[in-house]
Order: sequence, then C-alpha cells, then structure tokens
Amino acid sequence: MINSSFKILVRCFKQSIFEEKCLGCRDLLLPSSPRTLCRECECLISQIYQELICKKCGALIKDGDSNICGNCTLTKNQKIKTHVSYGLYEGLLRELILKYKYKDRHSLVNYFAKMIFDVYKTFFDNKIDIVIPVPFDRKRPRTYEPTFLLVKKFGKMAGLSYKRNILYKKKSTPTQAGLSYKKRCSNLKGAFAVKNIKLLKGKRLLIIDDVYTTGTTLKECADVLSPFCLSISAITLAKVEI
Ligand SMILES: [Zn+2]
Ligand SMILES: [Zn+2]
Repeated sequence: MINSSFKILVRCFKQSIFEEKCLGCRDLLLPSSPRTLCRECECLISQIYQELICKKCGALIKDGDSNICGNCTLTKNQKIKTHVSYGLYEGLLRELILKYKYKDRHSLVNYFAKMIFDVYKTFFDNKIDIVIPVPFDRKRPRTYEPTFLLVKKFGKMAGLSYKRNILYKKKSTPTQAGLSYKKRCSNLKGAFAVKNIKLLKGKRLLIIDDVYTTGTTLKECADVLSPFCLSISAITLAKVEI
C-alpha cells in the first residue's frame, strides 16, 4: 500500500518536473499510459500504409485494381522492390517529424520506431536481413543522427541487424527541400557511396528515411547499393502527397 502510494507520488513529481505531456496538444497524459500522444492526437495521424497503395512507391491508388500506380508502370526504375510510407506528410505528423529532426526531440524515437515496425510487420516480416538509414550529411549543423537512432531502435524492436557503416555520403549537398524534381536529381547525383560491400552479398536490405517526396534520395541510394545486394526495399515515416 505504502509502496504503491509512493509510486504514484513519484510519478506525479516526475510529471510536474519532466512534463509527461502529449507532444501534439500538450495535455497531460494519463499516468498509466507510456504514450507520446493522447488518443485524440493519435487519431490525427493518417495511416496510408493500411489503404490501397502502390507496392513500388507507396503512393495512394485512387482508382483501379492494380497494385502498381500509373507512374511506376511507366518508369523503368526497378531497383526499389517495395517502398511504403506510414502516413502523409501533413499536419501533426509533419510537425512531429520536424521537431524530431531539428529540435532534438529524442523522446519521439520510440513512437516513430513503432510506426516503422507496424509497416514492417504488414509488408516485410521475415523478408529483410539488414536495416540501414539514409546517410547523414556530416557537414550539416546537427547535433545528432535522427535517422540512425530510428534505425537502431526499430532494428532492436524487430530483431533485425542494423548498420550505419554501409551507405555514406561522400559529398555534402544542399537540403532537397524546396528544389524542383530536376534539381533534386542533379543535387544528389554521385552523392552516395557504399563500403563494407562483403556484408551485403545475398542480403535483402531495408532503407529507412523520414520523408518521401519524389523518391530521388531512395533512388540514388538504391543505384549505388543494387550491384552488391539481393534486394532493396524502403520504409519512410511520411509521404508528401504530390
Ligand atoms: Zn494530444
Ligand atoms: Zn508507384
């Protein structure tokens, strides 16, 4: 009895000091739930992976009964076997991703890793050998590596091997945000390279990134990786609806 009252007291103290609040609306979270968002805010995040999506690029298929969207049927790039985004890059999910990337909200890593895990269980269970992040641009002023932290957390959750020493950025490039499709492609041309090639032989790779816009980043990564591995798939947290 004393013990449980003491625990409640400690939790109340922690709440007032460490602010266990919903990262969406800042409401206090129920003491019993180890959550990041309250239920109302969770409902604001779309789950496009559960809808009818293109199995190659993750785009929503609005009509028709095909598994592949019109765009992917026309393009010849077959290097990414399957790409799936958890949700759409809008509203609260967009806000949380920006906080995680630029405001060092480390506490979001568990929440995002669980999202990646949900997509993994639906589409890739037992079909992946190694998980890797889209590499970090070391010249950019950041204090931590958000994508690698996400890969590490997800890798542990799914019991998968994860590596950061395979794909790397050999030249620094300006951020892709705000560039046209053509500029995005030329901006990243030759930016990525592969090391520790021996580790990749016969392996099915899964690349993790935060946001999918035109797919240029993943395509560039897949172009340099594909000669050395068996297959490449990708999961991103959110997709920009174009
Ligand atoms: Zn909330
Ligand atoms: Zn597609």
